Amino acid sequence: MTNAAALNDNMDIDTMEIQDDTRGLHYDENLLYEKERCDRPGVDLPPPEGTPLRTGFEARGDIGLSQVSEPQVVRHFVRLSTKNYSIDSGFFPLGSCTMKHNPRINEKNARIAGFAHIHPMQPESTVQGALAVMHDLQGWLAELTGLPGVCLTPAAGAHGELAGVMTIARAHELQGNTHKKVMLVPDSAHGTNPATAAMCGFDIRVIPTKETGRVTVEAFKEALGDGNDVAGMMVTNPNTCGLFETDIAEIVDLLHDAGGYFYCDGANFNALVGKIRPGDFGVDVMHLNLHKTFSTPHGGGGPGSGPICVAESLRPYIPSPLVLKEGDTYRLERDGERETQCGRLKGFQGQFGMHVRALSYMLSHGADGLKQVSEDAVLNANYIQASLKDDFHAPFEGPMMHEALFTEKYQKEHGVTTLDIAKGLIEYGMHPMTVYFPLVVNGAMLIEPTETEGKDAIDRFIDVMKKLAADARNGDVEKFHNYPQSAPTKRLDEVTAARQPKLRWSEA
Ligand SMILES: *Cc1c(COP(=O)(O)O)cnc(C)c1O
Repeated sequence: MTNAAALNDNMDIDTMEIQDDTRGLHYDENLLYEKERCDRPGVDLPPPEGTPLRTGFEARGDIGLSQVSEPQVVRHFVRLSTKNYSIDSGFFPLGSCTMKHNPRINEKNARIAGFAHIHPMQPESTVQGALAVMHDLQGWLAELTGLPGVCLTPAAGAHGELAGVMTIARAHELQGNTHKKVMLVPDSAHGTNPATAAMCGFDIRVIPTKETGRVTVEAFKEALGDGNDVAGMMVTNPNTCGLFETDIAEIVDLLHDAGGYFYCDGANFNALVGKIRPGDFGVDVMHLNLHKTFSTPHGGGGPGSGPICVAESLRPYIPSPLVLKEGDTYRLERDGERETQCGRLKGFQGQFGMHVRALSYMLSHGADGLKQVSEDAVLNANYIQASLKDDFHAPFEGPMMHEALFTEKYQKEHGVTTLDIAKGLIEYGMHPMTVYFPLVVNGAMLIEPTETEGKDAIDRFIDVMKKLAADARNGDVEKFHNYPQSAPTKRLDEVTAARQPKLRWSEA
């Protein structure tokens, strides 16, 4: 037996036959339960013979974990980890998600013992440095958004939306505006916008955007009516079609005249950061996704963080606790200190590790660097939009912000769909773009290259997309329906997988 064969626990030792798709040094990774051998002990040791039960009563039964050794467990999880596709392994153009490089300086700073090894219940005098980081971050966010009230607690974008809409609800409550029950939301909104408003007890009134991809003043006026029942409006800007809402200033003035608050979903702030301050175009509340704009890891890479920034008028109502500075001392707001607040969002004060990373990102870029970030994000997206405009149908007139948007229209004529193109990208070793979102665009392909990709990576993506478009034109439909061919798992039946998921292992 060779060493390689000895290492390969997917091989039948007697016949020397590989039992699955394991080839060379590439392992087809079975479940731990499929690796266990009943004749070998793992976590459940055999009971020692002749030793009386010392507790006197209950003996512990088998706990039912698979019987494998520690090296087997370690190898299993290390091999699984190498199967992850991530921003650290390749181009990841998932629209609306901002999958960009996380600079390692952020990680280094987050691991400084004085930040990494502290506990939220430590006395404030022992964590002054950590509170200073949070206070500085509040300051940077206020400066960048032009919105002076900042609450760092929300643990994700959607959580920030909850915080922001709760803030609006609390303001209306304390002002006695019980008749204001309606939240205006364009049909292009990220799904979390209407979901959040509904969760906070508002009725949703939808503003159609279909023709232009933007909210027009006319459509807004129609939805507003006399404005008496309107509590506010939630708009994503740049919106989910990758477009800047050009009429926003005029719309906000009308909304304010009607006594409504303007919520801006700022998840996509990476297209604006350093260029404009949303407070200047009338935004009252905005959440930011630190894990998108300010490069803290997300997806499988770590928790999110979705602070909110609000205008002076809403400052009394934001959730507690804020980080306050008195003289040279930092402290957290105490419970009950600000009675107008809308409540607490979680036990402590947010994802502190993400606060360190985001501040580290801001400090290492500086004001000019952050401006360059948004310029490069927009340039990269428009480069893709312009390069692919003859091969793929663009539903709206550009220029785009940080995302390119196409549809399947040209390919559908040949029987090739958005899903086929996404699977084709996997075949060529690339993570697909966001597909079928925004919902207002049929067969949408939303591509966000981000500013951290260089021209080589983007050109390769463009080449692959052009090749897929040419294959579709040439009628290679069968090939498309079978993509991906070279991935370990081929085309899945996604409907069955979603409708009847197998969530439990059972012995075959
Ligand atoms: C990502 C995103 C959200 C939600 O953020 P999470 O951190 O995933 O909760 C909300 N709105 C828009 C426009 C987004 O792109």
